[in-house]
Amino acid sequence: MRTQHLPNPLRPTVPPPPRAQLFPDDESLLPEGSVVDGRGLTTDVIDSADYVVVGTGASGATAALVLAQAGYSVVMLEEGRWVRTREFGPDVFPAMKQMYRDLGAQVTIGPAAYAVMQGRCVGGSTTINSAIALRPPEKVIERWGTAFGLGDELTVAQLEPHFDALEKSLRVTQIGDSIAGNHNTLMEAAAKKLGIKAQRISRYDGGCEASASCITGCPNGKKLGMNITYVPQTLKHGAKLYTSAKALRVLSSWGRATGVEALTESGRFLTVHARRGVVVAASVIQTPGILKRSGVRLHALGRHFQAQPGTSFAARFDKPVSMDFGATQGFNSTHFVESDRFKVESLSLPPELLSVNLPGIGPELTNRLHDYRHLLNWALVLRAETEGRVVSMLGKEMIFFNPTVTDLARIRRGYRQLSELMFAAGAKEVWPNVRGMPTLRSADDLKHWDNAPLEPTAYSLMLSHLFGTARIGPDPRDAVVGLDFQVHGLRGAYVVDASVFPTNLGVNPQHTIMAVARLGATRIAERPLPRV
Ligand SMILES: Cc1cc2nc3c(=O)[nH]c(=O)nc-3n(C[C@H](O)[C@H](O)[C@H](O)COP(=O)(O)OP(=O)(O)OC[C@H]3O[C@@H](n4cnc5c(N)ncnc54)[C@H](O)[C@@H]3O)c2cc1C
Ligand code: SF4
Repeated sequence: MRTQHLPNPLRPTVPPPPRAQLFPDDESLLPEGSVVDGRGLTTDVIDSADYVVVGTGASGATAALVLAQAGYSVVMLEEGRWVRTREFGPDVFPAMKQMYRDLGAQVTIGPAAYAVMQGRCVGGSTTINSAIALRPPEKVIERWGTAFGLGDELTVAQLEPHFDALEKSLRVTQIGDSIAGNHNTLMEAAAKKLGIKAQRISRYDGGCEASASCITGCPNGKKLGMNITYVPQTLKHGAKLYTSAKALRVLSSWGRATGVEALTESGRFLTVHARRGVVVAASVIQTPGILKRSGVRLHALGRHFQAQPGTSFAARFDKPVSMDFGATQGFNSTHFVESDRFKVESLSLPPELLSVNLPGIGPELTNRLHDYRHLLNWALVLRAETEGRVVSMLGKEMIFFNPTVTDLARIRRGYRQLSELMFAAGAKEVWPNVRGMPTLRSADDLKHWDNAPLEPTAYSLMLSHLFGTARIGPDPRDAVVGLDFQVHGLRGAYVVDASVFPTNLGVNPQHTIMAVARLGATRIAERPLPRV
């Protein structure tokens, strides 16, 4: 049922898309009986398939499609529900309630609580992300080969055809002028002025209509997330999907995975027997818990958690910016990734989320929000060196993350750079959302950054680029998954999400996650049946 809510008076009225239009996630376009809503099950259910895939996000949907295309029967399990394109609207909190894990309130444990954003719906985080598609720096993949024992098993050359195929099928396109929007083009102009290498962003783009609302789901069906691409395509290849069905554990017999036990939202048990294997793709936070509940006791499980924390702040301009028009994220600079481990990005935020980045309370804050058209918000993404840990207890994941001083210093350096870009773009006021930092009114004020605190609680970080809790490697003493993507000691159980990444990347991860999942699933599809 659609959530009813009052219109947001601060948001300009954008004409809704024609609702008569059918999108690829409409029930009438999917094979009959291919989707079972776990909220409606009234008895326990037993099913079977060649492969069971847990999770329908970037990695799970990619792997499921490869296996279904190879001719195997596939059952997909998804903890969240399938929120259809026709249900997407611009308001943030109803969207978070339906599509984000813990309603968007999942946080880290440590000296500071940082938000950990993840999708919990069909399509996973791709349903609510900005669709940025970037290949990783080659040096990162090469280092996986030399420093983590991956050797010739996962190389730049092997990933290449998978990137090519993804880019073709998901129409990776650099944003054009007509959908750029001022929040993007102002960064382009500022980078040029300061001589900073920067690029328009390439995205999974089915004809973006510049509504700047990717993070609440694309109401126009133009963002090519898994919810409207690989999931429906997998179903058309004969697969089945259970939604609102949380995988509890991988079932096994004599060291071989035999299926998955899940619990539906209606409280019924669902058992899916797997003739050939189980592919776990539930994300860096949830995958370790599933493996732990399945009896996997490897030392590296849940350890080596890495992230690329993001953080953003706002500025005021005299001329209108109108960041509610344009691709949500359309411009970025990787200029500083190599030297300082951060990249900067434009990021349109709706008023509800932007308010967190504005100073003041009461009428002062309200007045600033009323000035929404003149405000702009840009972000920083850090390739953090910090390693944390994900621990699963009583079915709930706890994420320990305590950034090092070096990481905080890099954020501070990045914030200074971002402020400089804002002034170069013509900002009149810059509002750092760092404790103790004053409003900056000109480039002369950039010196205040030198005194910004280096304490975790002074910064508001958001973690959505996540890596490493079931990392790949030949040695079970410091890796969870072998070079064949099979869990050490549990034949027929595979992991293909970013848990397997030995390190973070320095760029937005979806593209690499999908390429690795595609490579892994292709190899799984070619394997002989695991020995019983
Ligand atoms: C707001 C936001 C914006 C982002 N923007 C970008 C971007 O523009 N470009 C980019 O490259 N990256 C972006 N990212 C990151 C990117 O979306 C993720 O890195 C990527 O989707 C992770 O893929 P995944 O398959 O590991 O997990 P997900 O895509 O999160 O999918 C995991 C799925 O598994 C399901 N699941 C979990 N546990 C269970 C269980 N026990 N049983 C059944 N199902 C389960 C979840 O509900 C979820 O649907 C963004 C992330 C967020 C949150
Ligand atoms: S900005 Fe483009 S891709 Fe994003 S929601 Fe709007 S139309 Fe869809």
